[in-house]
Formats: sequence, C-alpha cells, structure tokens
Amino acid sequence: MKFKIISKGDERSNKIKAKMKQHLIDFDLLYDKEEPDLVISVGGDGTFLEAFHRYNHRLSNTAFIGIHTGHLGFYADYVPEELEKLVIEIAKTPYQIVEYPLLEVIIRSKTGNKTDTYLALNEATIKTPESSVVFDVEIRGERFETFRGDGLCISTPSGSTAYNKALGGGIIHPSLEAIQLTEMASINNRVFRTIGSPLILPKHHTCLLKPIVDRSFFITIDHITHNYTNVKSIQCRVAKEKIRFARFRPFPFWNRVRDSFIADNN
Ligand code: NAD
Repeated sequence: MKFKIISKGDERSNKIKAKMKQHLIDFDLLYDKEEPDLVISVGGDGTFLEAFHRYNHRLSNTAFIGIHTGHLGFYADYVPEELEKLVIEIAKTPYQIVEYPLLEVIIRSKTGNKTDTYLALNEATIKTPESSVVFDVEIRGERFETFRGDGLCISTPSGSTAYNKALGGGIIHPSLEAIQLTEMASINNRVFRTIGSPLILPKHHTCLLKPIVDRSFFITIDHITHNYTNVKSIQCRVAKEKIRFARFRPFPFWNRVRDSFIADNN
C-alpha cells in the first residue's frame, strides 16, 4: 500500500506528518507522492481541499483521510490523539470506503471553442468585480430564469455545510447525489425576478448559466479562484467521479454537523 501525507505546513502539522510517515514506513507501507492509494491530510479543511485537488486526476485509485490540527473539520475529522490507532488500522488494509458526490463544472469560451473542466468537492461560485452578474439559467435544456445579482453558488452535498450554508442553502446528506444552486443577493423588483429559493438538482439535471451581459468573472472552484473573460456558458452537474474516504470508525454526517455547528465540544 502506497501513501502520501500532505501537511498544512505549520509546526504542529509537520510534526504529526513526520511521526505518522515514520510509523507507516515501519509497518512496511510505501511513501509515494506520485501514485498513492491513500492520501492523508494533516491540518484543516483547507489542507484537505488542497489534497483533493492535487490528486483529483486519480480518484478511482486514491482514498482520502483528514486529521485536524485546529478545530474540528468537515473533512479533517480525525484528531492527532488518534494517530497511533489510525496507523494500525491503515496498516491492516483493506479499509472501509465511503463515497461522496462531486460537482463537475465545464466553462466554455466564446473564442476558439476553448473548454475547461473542473471537479469541486465543496462548490463553485461565479461572481464579477464589475457590478452584478446577469445570466440566463437553464435547467435540463429549458430556460428557467434570468438571474441578476452578486453571483451564484453551486455546491455538492458535502459542501452544503460550507459557503452554501452561509447563503441560506439547505444541508444535504452526501448519500444524495445532487447539487444545490444558491443565490447571492439577487435583484428582485417589478422588472427582474428570480426564484429566490435554493434549488436542489438531482443527478443528470444539468444547469447551464449563459452570461447575457459580458463581464469578467471570478469563478471559484473550492479554494481556487480563476479569472475568466469571454465566457459563453458555465455548465454544472453531478460529476461521474466521486471522492473516496477511508473510514476507520463511524462518524455519521449529522453528528459532524451537530458537533461543528451546535454542540460546544470541538
Ligand atoms: P478556509 O480554510 O478559511 O475555510 C473557510 C472555513 O470553511 C473553515 O472554517 C473550514 O473549516 C470551513 N469549511 C471548508 N469546507 C467545509 C465544509 N464542507 N463544511 C463546513 N465547513 C467547511 O478557506 P479555504 O481553505 O479557502 O476554503 C475554501 C472554502 O471556504 C470554500 O470551499 C468555501 O466553502 C468556504 N468559504 C466560505 C465562505 C462563507 O461561509 N461565507 C466564504 C468563502 C469561502
């Protein structure tokens, strides 16, 4: 079994990384940063997002696990005190795998048929530094509305507790293969109208955003911001690929939601 550890880079995370790496090597596991079977992130959710993006080209061959060195994370949900137990469990492979859905985003340019495809673990957001965004929103090939406002957020179920939640979106259990569209300050008056509620789209219901006013866009894919001009369309749907988590003990999603947002026991 080959593994790779990604640290947040602070002293505590680096120490845990070094200790864990040595223990796993002592158990005859191979440290391989090119083709790891297991990627361990040590830090916070931000570190986990980085790990996901570094290895999202080989999702069917890589499982992920997150250890948090700050507050309890949604992806980084193991504590450093569990390290020894975790090492033994990892060495005992095979381990249980839990899969969560991802978001696929395809950005098509007006010039030269250029397309960029991304996978997001949390969400994509579309904003502009110039006034507001104006999009035609199509769902399954049918025009749904024209959106005017600060922007739109399209999230995965596991990302529904992140930016989406701050926008008033619902929390979706990751066993549901869906994406959620939430508005950022839509303009609603006698002239302009949007639905105003978050929309939850099932698998195969593609959402297409077609800019009707030419703007430069900030398109974020999780923690990464891309600048775009000349955008013809932004297509969002549930991805074919999934993220695979290595699970060594149960930590149900709703317990994580409770412990992160309600109970004072982080
Ligand atoms: P970061 O590390 O500062 O993360 C921001 C916070 O989001 C952290 O507290 C992190 O634990 C939390 N978080 C990340 N994923 C989560 C999830 N799935 N569920 C619940 N909380 C989660 O910043 P970053 O590394 O740039 O992370 C990018 C993420 O930050 C984005 O994917 C977005 O979801 C989130 N974000 C949130 C807001 C907001 O809530 N208003 C605004 C911008 C970005």
